[in-house]
Amino acid sequence: MKIGVYPGTFDPVTNGHLDIIKRASQLFDKLYVLVSNNINKTTLFTIDERLHLLKETLKELTNVEVVTSNLLTVEYAKSINANVMIRGLRMVSDFEYELQMATLNKCLNDQIETIFIMSSHEYSFLSSSSVKEIAKFNGDVSQFVPQIVEKALYDKYH
Ligand code: ADP
Repeated sequence: MKIGVYPGTFDPVTNGHLDIIKRASQLFDKLYVLVSNNINKTTLFTIDERLHLLKETLKELTNVEVVTSNLLTVEYAKSINANVMIRGLRMVSDFEYELQMATLNKCLNDQIETIFIMSSHEYSFLSSSSVKEIAKFNGDVSQFVPQIVEKALYDKYH
């Protein structure tokens, strides 16, 4: 059984993340979307809110499970027998950070491979932070996020 993990902050999930999740779900028997609960990172949405938004958005994808864990990502992957981690790549600017993370993770556990999926061109400019910025100033984010996320953003800022 091929098991993959797609880790991220998902603060909040965007259509760019969803595109990666849908495409990755076709490559694995089971895909875990791992929502990081990093207390050093300030997030707009709580861990429970981020989990809820992802679970609601992904409920039709039967081989995808949304989870969180306090373990290091490689440790979590090992604990569920996943040997592949997925990351999305948008622009060249993502590359340096992602290369660093992938290399570090490889040092921590060389049995786990990081595989990158290139963003579809329509989402290559899209990030959770830009969506939050637009929503904060009352802009229309409906083309960038699922409806439930649009509503959650509205509720946060109004
Ligand atoms: P993190 O804080 O771990 O970078 P994010 O939720 O911002 O968490 O992103 C998780 C992963 O999804 C990262 O690999 C990021 O590059 C990727 N990603 C984010 N937005 C997009 C997008 N629009 N298209 C493709 N990949 C994306």
